[in-house]
Amino acid sequence: MHRLNRYLSTANHPLMTMFRALALSLLLGTLMSCQETRPVYTSLDEYPIYPHGDLGAKYTTEATTFKLWSPAVDAARVKLYREDSGDLAPMRVLDMEEIDGAWTAIAEGDMDEIYYTFQVKQNGTWQEEATDPYARAAGTNGTRGQVIDLADTNPEGWAQDTAPPLAAATDAILYELHVRDISLDPRANIEHPGKFLGLTERGTATNQGDATGLDHLIELGVTHVHLLPSFDYLSVNEAQTEEAQYNWGYDPQNYNVPEGSYSTNPRNGKVRVREFKQMVKALHDAGIRVVMDVVYNHTGKSADSHFQHLIPDYFYRFNEDGSFSNASGCGNEIASDRPMVRKYIRESLEYWVKEYHVDGFRFDLMAIHDIATMNEISQSLHALDSTILLYGEGWTAGDSPLPVEQRALKAHTPQLDRVAAFSDDLRDGLKGSVFNHEEQGFVSGAHGRDMSIRFGIVGSTFHPHVNYDSVNYSNEPWAKEPAQCINYVSCHDNHTLRDRLAISNPGDPPSYRSQMQRLALAIVLTSQGIPFLHAGSEMERTKNGDENSYKSGDGVNAIRYAGKRANKLTYNYVRGLIELRKQHPAFRLGSTEKITGHLEFAQTNDDQLVVYRIQDAPGDAWSDILVAFNGSGQAKRIELPEGSWTTVANGREVNPEGIGGEREEWTYVDGRSALILVR
Ligand code: CA
Repeated sequence: MHRLNRYLSTANHPLMTMFRALALSLLLGTLMSCQETRPVYTSLDEYPIYPHGDLGAKYTTEATTFKLWSPAVDAARVKLYREDSGDLAPMRVLDMEEIDGAWTAIAEGDMDEIYYTFQVKQNGTWQEEATDPYARAAGTNGTRGQVIDLADTNPEGWAQDTAPPLAAATDAILYELHVRDISLDPRANIEHPGKFLGLTERGTATNQGDATGLDHLIELGVTHVHLLPSFDYLSVNEAQTEEAQYNWGYDPQNYNVPEGSYSTNPRNGKVRVREFKQMVKALHDAGIRVVMDVVYNHTGKSADSHFQHLIPDYFYRFNEDGSFSNASGCGNEIASDRPMVRKYIRESLEYWVKEYHVDGFRFDLMAIHDIATMNEISQSLHALDSTILLYGEGWTAGDSPLPVEQRALKAHTPQLDRVAAFSDDLRDGLKGSVFNHEEQGFVSGAHGRDMSIRFGIVGSTFHPHVNYDSVNYSNEPWAKEPAQCINYVSCHDNHTLRDRLAISNPGDPPSYRSQMQRLALAIVLTSQGIPFLHAGSEMERTKNGDENSYKSGDGVNAIRYAGKRANKLTYNYVRGLIELRKQHPAFRLGSTEKITGHLEFAQTNDDQLVVYRIQDAPGDAWSDILVAFNGSGQAKRIELPEGSWTTVANGREVNPEGIGGEREEWTYVDGRSALILVR
């Protein structure tokens, strides 16, 4: 989700544009019948598809070839510049010729680091210059593309860079992070705060010796860092990065270019490309994979976007009155279902995988995309690398002209091929609805949430012990396999978990709320889907009650490492749970069949108490595991199956060697606590 409200303009009414184009074409056809005439299209659907994968600028030392697909315009040209902005005239202007369905121009000579724009002529008028949508580099603020020799951007050892192994999608432990947040705290002692390079530094720590930055992630043990939008977005002025500016980045500008404000030099396009790769390599070397949050559902600008200037109307959906439709809540929505848009998205993702070695993608407002597009993307990317993770928000932020049955909604996850959706069922079951801040959830003692918790434990799959009529938002399983379910309790949107628990439980002492936080994270990290942690939840991160910090600045958004010390119990607990999950395949059985075969729920007759048992999990050293979650404030007695049971986790610590003495027949589960026993 994204919180920028841009008001749409109806000035560029697509039907009017089409009508004008048609009328003019007919007129020109009559007047200039002796000259070459452009084809006339009465609908965007008639546009011919360009089949090749070479749009954009293709560099060699001898010449650079520029290609633009825009079938309905009258003419196109490339302008070459020595500077990334300013009023200096272009060093060269090349007319493009339509060859094989793409406007093409060749600039002879070595064009490395030369900036460029495209410009199209429509209705007899040259439109505004715009950045090539396929641009692989750009100067300051992305207003001009840049030709670069990509080979020149590879950090040392890049050819040998490989992602750490991932045997199954449910082995992933995701950590959702804004590039800046991890390195902003001055006490983190990081040399490049707020930059891609801030995630490459090793051996950093607070003056008290607590690991920070990349070392913190290594210590915590997560398998994937999921980065908030890191492609070039609009809202931060890259010409003034020394000034206080902050944005989440859900306002895309150049999809194939890294964000300039996270680089040490936004003007030289090679720098951001190289530093992004350095970040990926440093994370890979540290045993951590990289997921990018991608926002192909809308662009930051509408009528004056690059797409609209160069390929009018084709990339967007429109209302019947000709205004931009707005399922994104940000002023427009991308028409992923059009063949050349689908191709654009697929090629962009392939590029991030091949050029930057990215290991997965999180799709913002995924239901704005059609199911066919998501499946084509999945098949194409998984052919490149079967371990790539794909997941998204299975909802929209507003209505769309795209028919509901075509949308990649959470409820349609069974139709998606190796694509997962976020479980708002578990998220809100645990803490209460994100739309009702005072509402409590299972971990704060709410009644009637036990089936939503069971649903999360089985990763939103089918299980005979889940009564689907009692799950909060879904009345049937929506994941075919647990790898299609992202389990979480908080993310960048809405309050941090700590802030939310404070708002919804104002009468409780902080120590109770810390117990609730640990219980929520214990449920997420032991459940069968793919667990997802909002950065800092392991140290009870606060944004001081700010529920929408998309531009709230560094002060609110920075991860404060003092939290590791102040909330040491919670931090060590989460670390312990991550290690427990990694060591014990029982918590990531990986298939619906194995979950129904090895995991059974106990009848507790108490909706504040969820108890389940995993027996003979394949490959696990523990053949019998009993897990209990008590959301109430009182200790509760549970009966133990036959045998002698060792506690390996309670509400305060995780210790696979055992905590306290062995138990037989029965035991207590503390209030607001998890309890894990093994036999
Ligand atoms: Ca930018």
